[in-house]
Amino acid sequence: MSEIIENSSKNHDGLVDLFSRTISYLRLSLTDRCNLKCMYCVTEDERNGCLTKLNQDELLTYEELLRVVRVAVDMGISKLRLTGGEPLVRKNVMHFIEQLGTIKNLHDIRITTNAVLLEQYADQLVAAGVNKINISLDTLKPERFAQITGVDCFEKVWRGIEKARTAGFSPVKLNMVVMRGINDDELVDFARMSRDTSLQVRYIEFMPVGVSSRWDKNTYMSSDEIKERIAVLGELIPDVGGRADGPASVFRLGEEAKGKLGFISPISHHFCDKCNRLRLTSEGMLRSCLLHDDETDLRSVLRQGCSDEEIQQTLLTAIRNKPKGHQMEERLKETGSDCHGRMSRIGG
Ligand code: SAM
Repeated sequence: MSEIIENSSKNHDGLVDLFSRTISYLRLSLTDRCNLKCMYCVTEDERNGCLTKLNQDELLTYEELLRVVRVAVDMGISKLRLTGGEPLVRKNVMHFIEQLGTIKNLHDIRITTNAVLLEQYADQLVAAGVNKINISLDTLKPERFAQITGVDCFEKVWRGIEKARTAGFSPVKLNMVVMRGINDDELVDFARMSRDTSLQVRYIEFMPVGVSSRWDKNTYMSSDEIKERIAVLGELIPDVGGRADGPASVFRLGEEAKGKLGFISPISHHFCDKCNRLRLTSEGMLRSCLLHDDETDLRSVLRQGCSDEEIQQTLLTAIRNKPKGHQMEERLKETGSDCHGRMSRIGG
């Protein structure tokens, strides 16, 4: 089977894994640093100052990242997402993104951001060729925003969201991690916003990821329950194209709705059979499944003065090791999650 993968990559027919999934989507965590300290990313102690961060020399340099992306695009990767940590806090990030925008055959560059710096960067992102944006927003209440993120800057974030719209991102997607007892009383408010504005709201099931996640069976809420809760606003009409929007199943709240609603259900209705993703963590590890800690060390390969062929081989090894599914439900029943990687380094 590895021969099939190698042959297909040489013919530029795409990267196909052992379970016939075509891998076309690479997510880069540009840095583990962030200007927020969200409660599911860091512990209380870490919030109060003892958060260990990667040293500069542990991060892949921009030159290394550009080289990997060029090789990956040549092998069949067509979609790239910049994430983190907060991608926009890395020094000189705009220059890096501008260079990404010049890579031949790379026409789909996306970003996931907390919007804190979007007022400053949204126009430049559009000019550099970033074509889609996801913004993380777990509450519409300024006080609660400060509690969840550790920073009192809701208004700045809201201005960033507005700026993303006027800069030309369409749609602007807002990702809400749903946590029972923490923000589930706002499910209907978010749904209403997707009906009355062009914003696309996406509810994400809370996942047991990372050493710091405060996930437990009580805070977790399934997409089915979320749908029941927002049914008070009326019927959810499946959007034309259905699952065309990545892992989200997409709906409209009535025929007249201006925006859409998406449900991302990695736990209750996992989409592993259609997963097309490969992740590169901020310390240069290739991770083929968000919810499995197995990683392939690309940074060491890069720093041993490798050839492009060796980068290709390392990408192929990571893809070959991509598990069939995350089996999170089974693992939770047995011993609990064994996914200890840090979300800020993996990139979500
Ligand atoms: N700083 C950027 C941001 O805030 O969008 C990108 C990094 S953040 C780690 C990426 C995404 O992962 C965010 O949408 C965040 O809400 C989500 N996330 C983090 N931990 C999660 C968890 N345990 N379950 C579900 N989503 C999570």
